[in-house]
Amino acid sequence: MNKWEENIRKVEPYIPGEQPQEKDMIKLNTNENPYPPSPKVVEAHQNMDTDRFALYPDPSSSELVQALERYYGRESGQVFTGVGSDDVLSLAFLTFFNSDKPVLFPDVTYSFYPVWAKVYQIPYECPPLDEDFRIRPGDYMRENGGIVIANPNAPTSIGMPLRQVEEIIRGNPDVVVIIDEAYVDFGGETVLPLLDRYENLLVVRTYSKSRSLAGMRIGFAMGSRRLIQALNDVKESVNSYTMNMESIRLGAASLEDEEYFQSCLDRIVGTRTRVKRELEGRGFICLDSCTNFLFVRHERKSAGILFEELQRRKIFVRHFGGERIRDYLRITIGTDQQMDRLLEVLDEL
Ligand SMILES: *Cc1c(COP(=O)(O)O)cnc(C)c1O
Repeated sequence: MNKWEENIRKVEPYIPGEQPQEKDMIKLNTNENPYPPSPKVVEAHQNMDTDRFALYPDPSSSELVQALERYYGRESGQVFTGVGSDDVLSLAFLTFFNSDKPVLFPDVTYSFYPVWAKVYQIPYECPPLDEDFRIRPGDYMRENGGIVIANPNAPTSIGMPLRQVEEIIRGNPDVVVIIDEAYVDFGGETVLPLLDRYENLLVVRTYSKSRSLAGMRIGFAMGSRRLIQALNDVKESVNSYTMNMESIRLGAASLEDEEYFQSCLDRIVGTRTRVKRELEGRGFICLDSCTNFLFVRHERKSAGILFEELQRRKIFVRHFGGERIRDYLRITIGTDQQMDRLLEVLDEL
């Protein structure tokens, strides 16, 4: 090793789901929305004044921040935006987890959490989910440097009741508790009603799943003014101009079409209910999903083999290697047509 290499930060990066570019594939591997964004978003895109692209965007994304504050009934200074919720979560780790004590998150959860902890050199511990893949609130009642919980959890799809989440928040007044609500619009219980009671609670959301805008990279956090101020201070110390002009505009436009938003959610939830039943009829065990995906294992067939067989037929799902979950596949809910094709292929297999 060269001397200079000793000073390189060594990290094992997060591996995102594949983004295959094949034609006529069915992509059920990264929990994107199968429906296009609202016509209001399309219109806003078409009306973008491209001459303005020569200028820097608004560093505080005011148009989007204010639209979110109105939509969620928050006061000024209680919303923060970022380049997808990955950007928001990463900054939140950097901003709030600066203790020698370990940050806590479950052993089976969003696999980016341990990667951020390592890159920022934050100690962490992972209390195991119980045998049914549920979070045990009691595990979070010990000394720690902060807590992050995805609710509903990924990749399990399971939602935790609000009273249990509150139990964890109430028991941890001395650290910041982050609740990652990436999937909450599909049927989870949100902690938003608790925001006014807990100044140390940060809720993180994304436009990538429920709002059909993964490609625009829009995420946001809601919390007390002090938390949001701290996030902004760190962000301004790293990169002032995170959100681009178009994402700011389209993110705000998306909030103006509640009817379209709800109709897409209803369709996905309807498809989820139907596909779960169909899969169960074919020998799959499906965890109870509050998300836009199903986490399933088959009574007899190996998940690894099913994954490969599906891929050969251009159906992409996700298979994780982790010890506790290697028997499972994570299947995003697509359109009814896509899911019918999946079921048809599973019947062949
Ligand atoms: C998808 C996902 C994110 C990240 O979404 P962005 O596209 O970066 O907004 C964060 N947390 C969980 C649990 C997710 O599933």
